[in-house]
Amino acid sequence: MTVRVAVTGATGRMGEEVLAAASDRDDIDVAFAVSRSAGDEIEGVLVEDAADLPDLLAAHDPDVLVDFTGPASCVEYAAACAESGVAFVSGTTGLSDGGFDALRDAADEVPVLYASNFSRGIAALRRAVREAVPALDGYDIELTETHHNAKRDAPSGTALTLLEDIDDVRGDSPRVHGREGEAPRTEDEIGVHARRAGDIAGEHEVLLAGNHESLSLTHRAGSRGVFAAGALDAAAWLSGRDAGWYDFTEVLE
Ligand code: NAD
Repeated sequence: MTVRVAVTGATGRMGEEVLAAASDRDDIDVAFAVSRSAGDEIEGVLVEDAADLPDLLAAHDPDVLVDFTGPASCVEYAAACAESGVAFVSGTTGLSDGGFDALRDAADEVPVLYASNFSRGIAALRRAVREAVPALDGYDIELTETHHNAKRDAPSGTALTLLEDIDDVRGDSPRVHGREGEAPRTEDEIGVHARRAGDIAGEHEVLLAGNHESLSLTHRAGSRGVFAAGALDAAAWLSGRDAGWYDFTEVLE
């Protein structure tokens, strides 16, 4: 069965990747694509005006909307999907607690799948971190993420997810974002470091050190295509499900 997806932020880095990945797949058709800057054609799809999204949802009735945009538009598009009965997949990061609440409200009406990272490698990294942290009790933990120079939010959504994973398995820890001047480490703090350079698609390292040894768990995304592929896997999986809140790990299982 072919799943018909709508794509938002179509002229953005991820939007273009999603359109490129969709054009290579037999199980996905693009119903329409929107962006704030309409008019271009990408992968044979005319990019329409994002302001017309409610009308386009009504006219095309896609199965799933795939969103990689910004926090404000993500919330707005989730509400439009809830209104139109269209399933919603988003990987947009930088959402506030209120933004996540709004997505959960949408999940009362339609299926919603949110992931701060759509790569299988990051899913495996999260499992490895959840195993390593309790095994290395008392070791210092530092988290470093590196992304391209146009990324807006810091630390990355994936870094925040990894920090939540660490808190889940060893209790809440204070976070120190970079260090400067007199800044000795406290026993249980987690140092968090965000680097921005070039066109790096995404790197995350969790470093555990103590007892005269260190363990470094690192993931590097070679291209944004890996996130686009995961998001389309999620869209195909989500199509036709009941309203509710879903997680990317369910797709992988
Ligand atoms: P980008 O800046 O290249 O593209 C963002 C697109 O969204 C642009 O087309 C922009 O016009 C549009 N947009 C932003 N705010 C908008 C608004 N208020 N209304 C309408 N359109 C709006 O960014 P990108 O690299 O494509 O990343 C987009 C988002 O996806 C970011 O939050 C990024 O962190 C996230 N991301 C998530 C994953 C993942 O696996 N979950 C992977 C990569 C990027």
